[in-house]
Amino acid sequence: MISVDTALNTILQSIQAVSLETLPLSQCLHRVLAETVISTVNVPSFANSAMDGYAIIAADSQTSHPLRLKIIANIPAGVAPTQTIRPGTAARIMTGAPMPMGADAVIRFEDTSEYIPTPDAATDEVWLYQAVSAGDNVRLAGEDIQAGQVILAAGHELRPQDIGVLAAIGQANVTVYRRPRVAILATGDELVDLTEAIAPGKIRNSNEYTQAALVQKYGGEPLMLGIARDTVADLTAKIRAGLAQQVDLFLTSAGVSVGDFDVVKDVLAAEGEMQFWQVAIKPGKPLAFGLLQGTVPLIGLPGNPVAAMVAFEIFVRPAILKLRGLLNWDKPMVWAQLDEEITNSGRRHYMRASVWQEANGYHVTTRSSSVRVQGSAILTSLVWANGLVVVPETVTYLPPGSMVQVWLLD
Ligand code: AMP
Ligand code: MG
Repeated sequence: MISVDTALNTILQSIQAVSLETLPLSQCLHRVLAETVISTVNVPSFANSAMDGYAIIAADSQTSHPLRLKIIANIPAGVAPTQTIRPGTAARIMTGAPMPMGADAVIRFEDTSEYIPTPDAATDEVWLYQAVSAGDNVRLAGEDIQAGQVILAAGHELRPQDIGVLAAIGQANVTVYRRPRVAILATGDELVDLTEAIAPGKIRNSNEYTQAALVQKYGGEPLMLGIARDTVADLTAKIRAGLAQQVDLFLTSAGVSVGDFDVVKDVLAAEGEMQFWQVAIKPGKPLAFGLLQGTVPLIGLPGNPVAAMVAFEIFVRPAILKLRGLLNWDKPMVWAQLDEEITNSGRRHYMRASVWQEANGYHVTTRSSSVRVQGSAILTSLVWANGLVVVPETVTYLPPGSMVQVWLLD
């Protein structure tokens, strides 16, 4: 048996980021940038007003109030001004409109006769009731982004705000990593798909659906290959059919243990090379890994639904993130105070847990009155859980109140 860390390192060593594609910006959410983006333009590209108000010479307003100025222009957003502001004059200006020549500040409507009732004001004049300083309510050219500035680095996953910044600099197409294709094959003579009638001794194939959803959640494209029976012939045929569909990663579930019909290991060895098949982990000790035809990594997940999903989080999620071009695959985690005692026996234990926040920090429990939480076939325990407490292999006992590491599932 090898350690969790050795197993994960072995898997990641055989994985490289997938190839690139160039997509319209609107299709790039959650894609990973393949090249660093350097702006060629200033944003904003011209000085403009931050308020609806009057563009003026700030020095004019440093006097006793009210001050009367003559209105010489009305500048909407999107229009280049033609008039120059000189002492004693002002231009009405809207938010986002370019600053006219000569003006160095904007006084907002609220501080002028525009808002403050002033019956004596002529229609072509504005009365100021306050002073402003040079630069007030003016957005400078390049104050957000400067030409030549690195705005996003290669390896960065594009979030909505990143998409917005790329739009702001006029980047219509973006070079990103394509979505990795992940084949998912369930194995087992007892499995029945969702639309088939169920006979005595048969169970529903839930793993394939959980795994397809996890692949989507972590940014891959699932290829659901259905069910292979527990024979070398059927498993071999289904694996070869999957490989013909240009997959970047192959997942199987079940058939990796020491039972009579556990043929995944044999087929993996025959169709490629097997690197390991047991990891010091709980749940999910049977976990196979190898390369099919020398190139496509195959992760043979355990059959028990809980063990399969926990192993997915630990081993498959980082593999998918690395395929996608990401540079970091640490699982989001918090430290939390344990509600009860925990015992452990030499393997790294990922315990289903419920974590919540109190005034003094996070708390966590691995017990529930309504669900049998730690059975590795109790799939509802993962519906109940929002985290996994990680108990290191070196720890045999944790008293109540211990601080433990909790992976956040949501
Ligand atoms: P195995 O590793 O093949 O011995 O399977 C371990 C357990 O997982 C058995 O109880 C199987 O019935 C169950 N199992 C295997 N594949 C699936 C699946 N696709 N969906 C739900 N349970 C499964
Ligand atoms: Mg089986």
